[in-house]
Amino acid sequence: MGNINKYDVIIVGTGPAGIFTALEIVKRTSLSVLMLEKGHDIRKRKCPINESEKSCHKCRVCSILCGWGGAGAFSDGKLTLTHEVGGNLTDYLGLEKTKSLIDYVDGIYLKYGAPKKVYGRPSTKYDDLKEKAFKYDLKLIRTPIRHLGTDKTQEMLAKIKNDLTKAGVAIRCNEPVGKLLVKSKRVCGVMTCNNGEFYADNIVVAPGREGAEWLKGEGRRLKLATANNPVDIGVRVELPAEVFKEITDIAYEAKFKYYSKQFDDLVRTFCMNPYGEVVSEYNQDIVTVNGHSYRDKKTDRTNFSILVSTEFTQPFNEPISYGRYIASLANLIGGGVIVQRLGDLQKGRRSTQKRIQRGLVQPTLKSATPGDLSFVLPYRYLCNIVEMLNALENMAPGTASRHTLLYGVEVKFYSLRRKLTNDFRSEIEGLYIIGDGAGVSRGLIQASVSGVVAADSIINNR
Ligand SMILES: Cc1cc2nc3c(=O)[nH]c(=O)nc-3n(C[C@H](O)[C@H](O)[C@H](O)COP(=O)(O)OP(=O)(O)OC[C@H]3O[C@@H](n4cnc5c(N)ncnc54)[C@H](O)[C@@H]3O)c2cc1C
Repeated sequence: MGNINKYDVIIVGTGPAGIFTALEIVKRTSLSVLMLEKGHDIRKRKCPINESEKSCHKCRVCSILCGWGGAGAFSDGKLTLTHEVGGNLTDYLGLEKTKSLIDYVDGIYLKYGAPKKVYGRPSTKYDDLKEKAFKYDLKLIRTPIRHLGTDKTQEMLAKIKNDLTKAGVAIRCNEPVGKLLVKSKRVCGVMTCNNGEFYADNIVVAPGREGAEWLKGEGRRLKLATANNPVDIGVRVELPAEVFKEITDIAYEAKFKYYSKQFDDLVRTFCMNPYGEVVSEYNQDIVTVNGHSYRDKKTDRTNFSILVSTEFTQPFNEPISYGRYIASLANLIGGGVIVQRLGDLQKGRRSTQKRIQRGLVQPTLKSATPGDLSFVLPYRYLCNIVEMLNALENMAPGTASRHTLLYGVEVKFYSLRRKLTNDFRSEIEGLYIIGDGAGVSRGLIQASVSGVVAADSIINNR
């Protein structure tokens, strides 16, 4: 009798990257697959914090980021159907293959109930908007988006799990992988933190940003090569939905890029949520800010982030620590997320509850503390953000209003980028590293594509 802990393929992490690896393998083969996930099953994922609280309960495993479905399970599920955002896949697959695989995974999301409507399709109105943006030094990137909505995303993830289980995939939640087992430069299994040992000749590691630190440690132990990634730091902007209506009606998620005049830094808008709300995000021991929009629940405000990208040069090689440090300053001063009116920032004074209350925009994130972001963000970041707001004022009058709310800080950490082949094989035979944890993707669609590519490689190299 064979070893019951022996599979053809083991997948570590059940975010979109891991899930799409499994879906592709069961669709095309009868290989045995085991999926190991450190978080809870989708139905059991629950964050204990309620909105009035400011501090994270520091659960051993964060249910927002971990569990069946990965970091995207509670996101508002915006499927960005372009190679231009959400990852670096074209570096590995080239343009044409990336585009065709984006269409392929989009088809699978559709099969699982994603809505047919795509926002941001090519149109004359879009071209006019793009042309106008050029006049103000802004580049508008067309981002076709399918919007699942938070509620729909979870329903879809439960259905996929059901289908994979029916197809014979073994799925074990609450099973964190501690160690990759390697013999003579060939991967042969994993050991979990619960002392489980599982064996396979092909292991796909898809631990997301949440598992990036663990992967960093394993990478160091196994002497895997890396390249550095940038850190993006900025604020979340909240304003009346009317101000951006003309743009969001055409583009839904308008991605503007801008190179600041003073520092020549790349500044961009990110994660736009028309009629959405601002939320806190708990990232281990720090609180940062993010935004959501729901399909069926609307506010009268729009939020988006303005992020400044920094790629540090030698000898500094700790972009994640730097981002965490800036975020922790906001937490130190405000006890969590800080909110400030743009007018107060420009006048060099803190926002107070009174000033916020008499403003034209009321915060959707009630737990944010009125404060002063100039004590938190370095001069360079503040200048870049204000320049960007002024540039956007030309596109959407009212953006740089003194009533506009700025929440700080928003930080996007990217994992160390691994040295990988074009099909995401590492230097260790049989070991694939994919998704956000590998530094190759930064969004649901590109993470999903990386899963399909790894599966295809495993199937072809049998
Ligand atoms: C609040 C939020 C909103 C977002 N909104 C969007 C959006 O609208 N559109 C979009 O495109 N992207 C969005 N993203 C980003 C998107 O969720 C990620 O890009 C995507 O989930 C990455 O997929 P992944 O499979 O690589 O990793 P993840 O989804 O992070 O999944 C990795 C999984 O691996 C598990 N894991 C980690 N280490 C181990 C280990 N040692 N053993 C076992 N399991 C482990 C984790 O628990 C996790 O479940 C959002 C992210 C967040 C946090």
